This record gives sequence, C-alpha cells and structure tokens, in this order.
Amino acid sequence: MPYRLFRPVFRLIFCAPDAERFPRAACLLRVRESRRHAQIVFSFKAVAIMTIKIAVVGLGALGCATLLALARKGFHVEGFEQYRVGNNIGASGGRSRQHRLIYGEGAAYTTLLQRASQLWHQLEQEQQTQLFWGGGCLTIGTPDSPWFTAVENSAKQQNLPHERLSRAALNQRFPRLNIDEDEEGIFDPAGGILLTHELLLASAEQAKQLGAKVHEQTQIDGIVARDGAVELTINGQVSSFDRVIVTTGAWSKRLLPDLPISSRRLGMSFHVGKESGFDSVAFPPTMRVSAGRAMWNTQPLPDGKNFKFFVGDAELNELHDPELVATEATGSLTPVLNERLDRHVADAVNGAHRTIVGGGTWPEAYTHDQAPLIGELKTHPHVWIGIGLSGHGFKLAPALGELLSEAVAGEVNIARDWPLFSPERHFAEPQAVYSR
Ligand SMILES: Cc1cc2nc3c(=O)[nH]c(=O)nc-3n(C[C@H](O)[C@H](O)[C@H](O)COP(=O)(O)OP(=O)(O)OC[C@H]3O[C@@H](n4cnc5c(N)ncnc54)[C@H](O)[C@@H]3O)c2cc1C
Repeated sequence: MPYRLFRPVFRLIFCAPDAERFPRAACLLRVRESRRHAQIVFSFKAVAIMTIKIAVVGLGALGCATLLALARKGFHVEGFEQYRVGNNIGASGGRSRQHRLIYGEGAAYTTLLQRASQLWHQLEQEQQTQLFWGGGCLTIGTPDSPWFTAVENSAKQQNLPHERLSRAALNQRFPRLNIDEDEEGIFDPAGGILLTHELLLASAEQAKQLGAKVHEQTQIDGIVARDGAVELTINGQVSSFDRVIVTTGAWSKRLLPDLPISSRRLGMSFHVGKESGFDSVAFPPTMRVSAGRAMWNTQPLPDGKNFKFFVGDAELNELHDPELVATEATGSLTPVLNERLDRHVADAVNGAHRTIVGGGTWPEAYTHDQAPLIGELKTHPHVWIGIGLSGHGFKLAPALGELLSEAVAGEVNIARDWPLFSPERHFAEPQAVYSR
C-alpha cells in the first residue's frame, strides 16, 4: 500500500528536525558529529515500527499504559475508549490503589512491580504531577496463615527490605488499626498509594505528546482478523489496523466471547477520620490476610482525613454477562455490601466515623488462576490481549503495558519468557487462600 510505504519517509523528512516536538521521529535519525562530516544513521527497525498501525481498545489502567509504552517505542498507535479516559466506571476507578513490592502472589511479579515503580516515577517527572504517595504499606495476619507466610517468603527470598512487627509493635506504631491478639505484621517500606484517575490521564497525555491518538466516547463494536490485518467496527464503519490490543477489562467477552475470564463487581466504601492526622504515617495502606477471618484492606487517601475500605467478600456473585456488570457497576453500594463494609470497618479501624460517606462497585475481569492474560490470540492472528487483571492489576499495569509493547515489537516471547501470563497456559488453581 503506497501510504504505508511513504509514511515513514514522510515523517522522517518533516518531523526529524524538530526532535522536541516530535520525539518519536527523533529516534529515527541520529546525527553524529565527527571531525570530518556528519554521519546519518538510520534505524531500520525504527522505520519498520513506524509503519505498523496499532489500535488499543479500552483505555483503563492497562490500556493507557500500553498506549504509552507503544508510543514510547515509536509505533503509530491509536487508543479507543467507550467513555472518557480516567472514568470512574471501569475497574481502574475509585480514586486510589495500593502498591506493594513484597508480593505473596509470586516471585515472578517482583521485577514487574519494580519496573512499574520506575515507570510511574518517570511519568511524574514528565507530566510534573504527583501520582504515587509513598510511606510504606502493611500486611497483617496470623503468622501461620498461608498468605502471611507467602508474603514473608517473598520478602526474604528476594531480599526486599521489610520489617516484621509483633502485635505490641503494631499497636504502638499504628494505633488506628485494630489488630487481633494473635496477629502480627510485615511492613513493606516501598509500598504506598497510587492515584488512579490522575495516572490514567497522565499516561494518555504523555502518549499524545509522543504522537498517539486518543478517541474518547468511541466504542468498538467488533474485531475481525482478516488477511494479515485486523478490522475494527467503529460507529458502524470498519477501520483496518496491523495489530489490535484489547484491554477492555470486564467488558472483554462482548468482543471476544471465548476468553476464559469472568466478570465480578468489587465494592468499596469511603470513610472520614474523627481527627486530623488520620494520615498515611499513622495509618498506612493495610491488608489483613488471616485465614478464616474477613480479608480487609484500608487505604488512607492523600488528603489525610479520608480513607477507603474494602472487604474480601464484598463482591457480588460472578456475573458472566458483561453488559450487566457494566450497567450495575455505575450503581452505588447495594444494601448487602453496605452492611458488610459497615460491619467490618468498625472492627478494623479506630478513630473513624462509622458512617459510609461514599462508595460504589467497580467491574473487574478475573482469570481462573488470577494471573492476567497477556499475549497474542492464536485463534485471532494479530489480536493481542491484556485482560483479567483479577483484582490486583493496577500497580502492575505500567510494566504489563510495556511487556505488551515489547512482545508486539518481537523483543519478548510471552509463551517462553512469561508463561505465567500466556493465554495458551493451562490454568492452575489459585494459590492464594483468599480471593481478591
Ligand atoms: C474495588 C477495587 C479495588 C482494587 N484494589 C487494587 C489495589 O489496591 N491495587 C491494585 O494493584 N489493584 C487493585 N485493583 C485491581 C485494579 O484496579 C484492576 O486490575 C485494574 O484497574 C484493571 O484495569 P484494566 O485496564 O484491565 O480494566 P478497566 O479499568 O476496567 O479498563 C477497561 C476499559 O475498557 C473500556 N472498554 C470496554 N469495552 C470497550 C469497547 N468495546 N470499546 C472501547 N472501550 C471499551 C472500558 O470503558 C474501560 O475504561 C482493584 C480493583 C477494584 C475493582
């Protein structure tokens, strides 16, 4: 196709001289000063990348991260979001998410979590905005519970800085938390809070500055792999792309009905502290993992006065109909969720008003083993997926987005290098003793 042949040459001629405004083009042309003459080095790989037209469908945490990672590599990339970027409807809504480095879910995640931290710090610099609030995070539980042991093993085996805290130490240091007599703690100093809406918006903005196009309020209604390309149906019109990456979370079965995922709704409530100083120093983001007791998760919000509360069983029945999940997710807490959150928050946190001042439910896609599906679909050539983040994917999204971009560029083989995430894997039973 002539356009595809001319596109890189056109961009090279018109964009390369202005590297600040067109950083994607700048990677194409490097002028090396030598004593005798200027040497122009063409990167043929970069030229090849620029000819590939990629669509990212669904701009939640993973879609935005993937869009940005592809734009950083110089791909010609367009993102499509059925609502607005940074919406409060998808799984990435709800103001904040917990980040931790010590990860009971498995050692394979640690390098991704470390990389994700680097990537959002880079984004903070680029967009001149704070996206991560450090201060550490805490896991509490009975020392013999499998999840607590997994977290401690992760810290030890990977030599990650951590503190093991007795109940007395916990009470002294974090008096806001109500800890059972047989519970102890593991403090992860690298943990903290991520601002969800801000992170998505900053990622999309940075991607746009690198040349990506973002189409908001644009729903994709169909995906068909045909003749080495992928056709998307957009507002009744068909557009062709060389590759399509689907990151549509709980809505994914609407486009790809055979995916081995289910959609669930998770509920969270917001609360206010009684005094000021209800902040992340006195009250770090905390996850309670004692087997046989309610799993709960608290997160102070950066305003220092509000906090968020989540209970492990505060999720509604698995809903296989994505439309239903999507529609109901916009609703507020149901009476059942309200009762559960209300009951557990009083047991978990001291010094807070019991009243639920806000909250809602958000739809999330789960896989059977709670590890995401990342890779190309054998049944749909050139259709890639990043789906099934299973209640723990926000903190991983920048690294998973980068992984997807590397795989699309042929730099990484997911089935060989990351079999944990391969869509072709045989699903294992979840290792965790509680379900996120
Ligand atoms: C209540 C709750 C608490 C959580 N706590 C944590 C935590 O503390 N730490 C953590 O790391 N993770 C946490 N998670 C998990 C994490 O938030 C999710 O795994 C992550 O946000 C999922 O991102 P996503 O991009 O896969 O999905 P989504 O954010 O749902 O994004 C999918 C996007 O695709 C769009 N879309 C769908 N279909 C189409 C279409 N046909 N055309 C165009 N656009 C479409 C949707 O509108 C949506 O914006 C939590 C999740 C929930 C729900």
